[in-house]
Amino acid sequence: MKSWPEVYTPSIDSKYHFPEISLFNSASRKIEVLPRKNRYRMYVCGITPYDSTHLGHAATYIAFDLINRYLRAMNAEVAYVQNITDIDDPLLERAQRDGVDWQELANSQIDLFRSDMTALHVIPPKYYIGAVEAIPLVTEKIQELQDAEAIYSINQDLYFRIHKDPEFGSRSHLSEDDCLKIFAERGGDPGRIGKEHPLDSLVWLAQRPNEPGWPSIHGQGRPGWHIECCAIALKYLEPDSSEDFLIDIQGGGSDLIFPHHEMSAAQARVSTGKKFARMYVHTGMIGLNGEKMSKSLGNLQFVSSLINTGVSPMIIRCALLMQRYSKDRMWNDELLENAQIFMDKLALHLSQTECAPTQELIQNIIEALSSNLDTESVFFLLNNWIKETEVGAVGGNPGELSRTLDALLGLAI
Ligand code: ZN
Repeated sequence: MKSWPEVYTPSIDSKYHFPEISLFNSASRKIEVLPRKNRYRMYVCGITPYDSTHLGHAATYIAFDLINRYLRAMNAEVAYVQNITDIDDPLLERAQRDGVDWQELANSQIDLFRSDMTALHVIPPKYYIGAVEAIPLVTEKIQELQDAEAIYSINQDLYFRIHKDPEFGSRSHLSEDDCLKIFAERGGDPGRIGKEHPLDSLVWLAQRPNEPGWPSIHGQGRPGWHIECCAIALKYLEPDSSEDFLIDIQGGGSDLIFPHHEMSAAQARVSTGKKFARMYVHTGMIGLNGEKMSKSLGNLQFVSSLINTGVSPMIIRCALLMQRYSKDRMWNDELLENAQIFMDKLALHLSQTECAPTQELIQNIIEALSSNLDTESVFFLLNNWIKETEVGAVGGNPGELSRTLDALLGLAI
């Protein structure tokens, strides 16, 4: 699948020190240091193309873009892979509801997502892989799981035995009751007759009448969602057998912790014998005007709608960065206005030849980002710098600060 255009990122002077980045790991429930390496492997779950790109999506991809930018600024290579679930039940249900062809719906939404990511200045993944194009990888992964005796069938559908992974549950920390409830809410089928365990997850769905299917050694059908990500991540991130973990970061919104990330990690563990991700990093949910933002409430706010009303994508990006990525947070007009005021002031002072000192500020910004992407502190520091500049402080380098904000925050001013 075609990704979106590369984003130019300025380089940062080598006089600045980049500490190792710390991130909240949902699996250990602690903030942990990501050890310094030359090459990182990051997999971030992509969208199912039927409601793109709402602000929750934007917040997630911008957060992982900050991690990508930070690691690159440390002079590390970042192998970054993202999928797109271009076949799944929610896509077919939406196409049927709206009376449109599912492929046309998917293609139009994928195009919209690409243009939104470009507008938001998000660095593209090296590999952007669709579920349909990944079917050969998925069937291969299912075979590996069959070899590990982790697969059984109900009619022609294939299921993964979750308890083949002795660490099942260790990344999501939920009670069995909560697992069952959330599994049912998020596309699982705990009550299906014939299942060995209610949480066993579908890896291959045999073709149903009036639904698409693809030929495979497992019969005509389509892949399950969790195995799609497991197969794509392990192929395109090329794990290094000398490392303890297959990949460094598994990322996505916090609604993916269970079942999605638990299942993908379990399938990776059972098929390879190794631990999947060193860190499971999750972004908070974005609400709207005090309410949860969701498709069922019909209050999703879309990036393209905001842009079409004349809002600059950089203002949207700034507004989403003003609060820390891991928090559940609210979107409202006031936030957007504050971001606009802030960006106007920042642009004004960066365009002047004299400004308050910037060297210590830049180092402090780097340190705040290294501390679990503390963007709130970054804005606090920048607001102080604006105030100092307003009262006449001099000695800074506005060009260098501008390049740093572009490189690390993706704020092109
Ligand atoms: Zn995924």
